[in-house]
Amino acid sequence: MEDQIVISNIEMLVERKDIKNMYIRILPPDGKVKITVPEAISDDAIRMFAISRIAWIKKQKANFQNQSRQTKRQYISGESHFLWGKRYRLEVVYSGVRNDVFIKGDKLFLQVRKESTQEQRETAMEEWYREQIKQAIPAVLEKYAKIVGKAPDDWRVKNMRTKWGTCNPIKRRIWLNLQLAKKTPECLDYVIVHELVHLYVKNHDDEFRSYMDQFYPNWQVVKKQLNEQMLDWME
Ligand SMILES: [Zn+2]
Repeated sequence: MEDQIVISNIEMLVERKDIKNMYIRILPPDGKVKITVPEAISDDAIRMFAISRIAWIKKQKANFQNQSRQTKRQYISGESHFLWGKRYRLEVVYSGVRNDVFIKGDKLFLQVRKESTQEQRETAMEEWYREQIKQAIPAVLEKYAKIVGKAPDDWRVKNMRTKWGTCNPIKRRIWLNLQLAKKTPECLDYVIVHELVHLYVKNHDDEFRSYMDQFYPNWQVVKKQLNEQMLDWME
């Protein structure tokens, strides 16, 4: 069942579910607010909860609106594309043999069939980024698992719209955004440490922050850098 409430002129969707605690999410692409609540909770309690979080909601909505996304790529020669924070000029070359992506000097070559669609080019690039980050992750994970004292049972890579990483502490699984391959290497370090710390602490509370201080003292600086960098344009 879904209702709607309005607080401070902000419309909020209310979703009732079989859960214990209320939570609020700000959804892409336009910052819609959704409150998920336990089945039996009263409307007053929901309103109280939303009011108590109104400053946070406003801030998150503003972030959404301000976060500039990269313009949609067309995958044509001359575009800039990034790998580990370094900029490369895209050079599209045609081949009937197979798709390939490779770097030579300061150029990134995308080899595709001449009749390939923009979507197929995008997929070839995405798969290449996925390979790059999958090659990089094991060493970084091994290094920081030793420092943090926790290791996941499983890790996976995904192209995500709004998050750099997530952790499921119960399944002991972490997900990393393949777009991290475009950012400077310390961004991957930071996100990995962050997700490993979630194997100790669920929320971003004081305890979480003190673990971060201990295991990755520069985390606040890298976090800021990362949040200033753009996520890809995605539909
Ligand atoms: Zn987190």
